[in-house]
Amino acid sequence: MTGMTTVVERLRGDRPVFSVEFFPPRDAADEAVLWRSIRELEAFDPAYMSITYGAGGSSRDGTIRSIARVATETTLVPMAHLTAVNHSVAELRNVIGWYAAVGVRNVLALRGDPPGDPYGEWVPHPEGLNYAEELVTLVRSLGDFCVGVSAFPYGHPRSPDLDTDTTYLVRKLRAGADFAIAQLFFEAEDFLRLRDRVAGAGCDALLIPGVMPLTTPRTLHKTIELSGASAPDRLLRRLEPLAGDPRAFRAEGLDVVTELCERLIAEGVPDLHFYTFNRSKATRELVTRLGLLPARA
Ligand SMILES: Cc1cc2nc3c(=O)[nH]c(=O)nc-3n(C[C@H](O)[C@H](O)[C@H](O)COP(=O)(O)OP(=O)(O)OC[C@H]3O[C@@H](n4cnc5c(N)ncnc54)[C@H](O)[C@@H]3O)c2cc1C
Repeated sequence: MTGMTTVVERLRGDRPVFSVEFFPPRDAADEAVLWRSIRELEAFDPAYMSITYGAGGSSRDGTIRSIARVATETTLVPMAHLTAVNHSVAELRNVIGWYAAVGVRNVLALRGDPPGDPYGEWVPHPEGLNYAEELVTLVRSLGDFCVGVSAFPYGHPRSPDLDTDTTYLVRKLRAGADFAIAQLFFEAEDFLRLRDRVAGAGCDALLIPGVMPLTTPRTLHKTIELSGASAPDRLLRRLEPLAGDPRAFRAEGLDVVTELCERLIAEGVPDLHFYTFNRSKATRELVTRLGLLPARA
């Protein structure tokens, strides 16, 4: 069962691979779009696919339902995200139990943000957890899971400085995580500096860059928002003048991302993790250009 393959096993080859991230569908129409994309990408043999974990009950059910279907009906290696938001430890144990029961062996363990306002005050569930590190420990204690965590090239927005950020990142990796996926960033150097900080702290965990295909002004704004940094002028000068011309923006945006990925591949990253927004076309185009396809695709 591919569901039982670990992410780390899929990254052991001698060439870089790619992986894809989706979010849970909100309704039946969304679900059809998601499944079309999953099937289209399945033919490209990504190393693994992941589904994010939302703040509310129906979205959370959607993650569990979709990841179960991926594990049972596709050849893909599934990874389920999980956050500590509004969950008691008993509930978290339950969700992890569900993941295991449907054949999911890979979990991305996250603290999550306060629902509604990501920058609002973090209030832990009275019987819950405070930091991703504790969730890593919990997941590992419940079975033979391969566990990933998040990392932030510019530091997590709540971290007072990069040294503190690195200290806690390394702590959660040492708590039992096998790899970290980096939040979006703009220049290869921004990711490489994060990798150097982690290596400098004596930690050799795998670090995976997150990549957003810049197909529209909306994806550019989302990248700026998620990265927590301002976009470099060099990038804005290339893309902003094209905001009124969707075709030209998409072409230039995919060139920008191809150049970034080429640099990351040259620097030896094991995997490029694409945010798909539940669409497959841009990711298919990028991995084809980058030569990341297996022979059978
Ligand atoms: C690849 C990726 C996937 C994501 N997927 C999802 C998703 O599916 N669903 C979702 O809701 N969100 C998701 N997020 C967003 C994430 O939940 C938020 O960024 C959240 O604010 C941080 O989660 P974390 O796991 O990094 O937290 P933590 O690692 O717990 O860190 C949070 C903050 O606390 C600090 N800290 C950590 N440990 C300690 C300690 N012991 N003492 C003091 N300070 C400490 C850290 O330095 C950091 O500033 C994702 C982010 C990334 C990069």
